[in-house]
Amino acid sequence: MSADQPTVLVVEDEASQREVLRYNLEAEGFRVAAAGNGEEALVMLDEEEPDVIVLDWMLPNLSGIEVCRQIKTRPETRGVPVIMLSARSEEIDRIRGLETGADDYVVKPYSLRELMARVKAQLRRSRPAAAGLRLEYDDIILDAETHRVTRDGQELKLGPTEFRLLSTFMEKPGRVWSREQLLDRVWGRDIYVDTRTVDVHIGRLRKALGVYGGGDPLRTVRGAGYALG
Ligand code: CA
Repeated sequence: MSADQPTVLVVEDEASQREVLRYNLEAEGFRVAAAGNGEEALVMLDEEEPDVIVLDWMLPNLSGIEVCRQIKTRPETRGVPVIMLSARSEEIDRIRGLETGADDYVVKPYSLRELMARVKAQLRRSRPAAAGLRLEYDDIILDAETHRVTRDGQELKLGPTEFRLLSTFMEKPGRVWSREQLLDRVWGRDIYVDTRTVDVHIGRLRKALGVYGGGDPLRTVRGAGYALG
């Protein structure tokens, strides 16, 4: 499995439903983080950095609506798409009316196929490279489906790690990534790699991007990490 596998956070208090979602999302190639209540979900948000959140409305204590509100209030999670699940369509109407900021709504019992399609639709927004789309930044074009990268029309040769690094940067231009965040995203969470390895591969990526000239689009942010642009 690739390290840049997109992560879906499932928030559902009913264990059987949570496992059905986990099973089906994993079968679609997602990494799944699962929380049984809202408090746990809010903690996992920071640890897991999900790309899409599937959030049940009916949760003990903190309701799905309140969790959604908090997700959409925090600057660092505001952009993460939230799909709310609800048992009744009247509830969906209320969610809409409450302006919780949810990005999509699905009524239970839902068709798994439909829910998977909606998760993928949200992913195309939050993780375009992981969804196999084409990304552009300045004169650089990255085609996530064919794994080709061109700069000013000329094809660049990138190793697999440099390709994943570049797609991570191109999905969120301007975002400063720490070395640890890049390790998690590009190498995977379960692999121990020294953070200096990141610097080595950033060096290779810079060299590959500059092989036909053009400025260095990568920025070293002292004490913080790296950013594109
Ligand atoms: Ca529930």
